[in-house]
Amino acid sequence: MSFETVIGLEVHVELLSETKVFCTCKSEFGGKPNTRICEICTGMPGTLPRLNEKVVEFAVKTGLATDCEITKITRFDRKNYFYPDLPKAYQISQLYLPICRNGHIEIKTENGKKIIGIHEIHIEEDAGKLIHTESGTLIDCNRCGVPLLEIVTEPDFSGADEVIAFLEALRSTLTYLGVSDCKMQEGSMRADVNLSVRSAGSRELGTRTEMKNLNSFHDIADAVKSEAARQIALIKSGEAVIQQTRRWDADKRESYAMRSKEAANDYRYFPEPDIPPIDISESFINRINSALPELPAAKKQRYMNELGLSGYDASVLTNDIYIVSFFEAALKDCNSPKEVANWVLGEVLRLLKDSGTDSKSNPLKPEALVKIIEMVQSGKINRNTGKTVLEKAFYDGVDVERYISENGLSLITDSDVIESSVEAVIAGNEKSVTDYKRGKTAALGYLVGQTMKALGGRADANEIQKLLRELLN
Ligand SMILES: [Zn+2]
Repeated sequence: MSFETVIGLEVHVELLSETKVFCTCKSEFGGKPNTRICEICTGMPGTLPRLNEKVVEFAVKTGLATDCEITKITRFDRKNYFYPDLPKAYQISQLYLPICRNGHIEIKTENGKKIIGIHEIHIEEDAGKLIHTESGTLIDCNRCGVPLLEIVTEPDFSGADEVIAFLEALRSTLTYLGVSDCKMQEGSMRADVNLSVRSAGSRELGTRTEMKNLNSFHDIADAVKSEAARQIALIKSGEAVIQQTRRWDADKRESYAMRSKEAANDYRYFPEPDIPPIDISESFINRINSALPELPAAKKQRYMNELGLSGYDASVLTNDIYIVSFFEAALKDCNSPKEVANWVLGEVLRLLKDSGTDSKSNPLKPEALVKIIEMVQSGKINRNTGKTVLEKAFYDGVDVERYISENGLSLITDSDVIESSVEAVIAGNEKSVTDYKRGKTAALGYLVGQTMKALGGRADANEIQKLLRELLN
């Protein structure tokens, strides 16, 4: 009997609005515990929430970018539950009339393109944080009331690769829109995975579990694989899968049961009486729609058509909005898009990776890269020197031209100097010269290397090779 896996996602993203969703406290990540709180976000009796319009705007933006229908009259509901990080003992969320519905995102899979349905997107507030210490548990309410979007997909995924492809596509869309920075490690993007298995070809859904505490794409991929295997093993041994919430243990690389999964009616949802229904006008939607930025898929296509980049290069470049900004800024001053793309895809991405710098904090100035490309193209420096200088500009912020002149890195242009150096190498390497003359072409490479060494690397290897050939033949 063969099985197939059915997966749906619930993705929470924190929004980049300056203030919280129902009060004017700062919503920025971090801060000294309990310094970004007020009577509203800590749920003091007698206070009233006031909806932050920016949050509605961000939600509509996200809905439009994912082809959702926007709910014209939307409303909030209270989700009641008790937990120490939730001082009000209810969370303001949207159950009955979520702000966006019926959208989709296209992903690339091994078997081509696939459409992943978005069931709904709704606005809700985040809870606080519990900090467990040796002497007890502390509560930090800074995160209470930070605006969240919950993006609920249809159960359209059949494996870990599709889940990751979707999350990457969602992350680049949201960062392009500027609505969230989607940092999994800081918790501004979190995904819960609903998973069930069924016999291949069956149309009925099996019993599903929900997995929480997934803090990286790597965890998500492993959790999907391990949960599918666990459920299949249960079914094969004649046991039943129990509907439950499971927690992923990143150290043990396995999940364990946390509690039986709640149904919506366990939360005693009811309409939030303190916030009137929101009437979203056509003109509000049109204004947001007309200001949407070029989105990743469109940008990728344009890079391929207009700049002549390969599909692969275009997709690596357009994945990340901060790389896009850097690339486009460099492109403004340089009319060799392919050359700029090669340097960004090769050297710049390598420097970011080696130094563990995220693309948002890239210290490199686009002008520095442009200067280096120009100097390589005009033959003032060679490519290797260019790479060295780029590294210096990245780590130490050196001025490219000054660094090259102060360190004497520009190419030697005096042909007499080059020629005499080549002659000296020929005179000093009799064996290689004989080898070359007997047809060992590899010997030529050695002679080029020796000349480059003698010239301190400040020469054009092709030119030296040409000169060597002339003199040896
Ligand atoms: Zn507040």
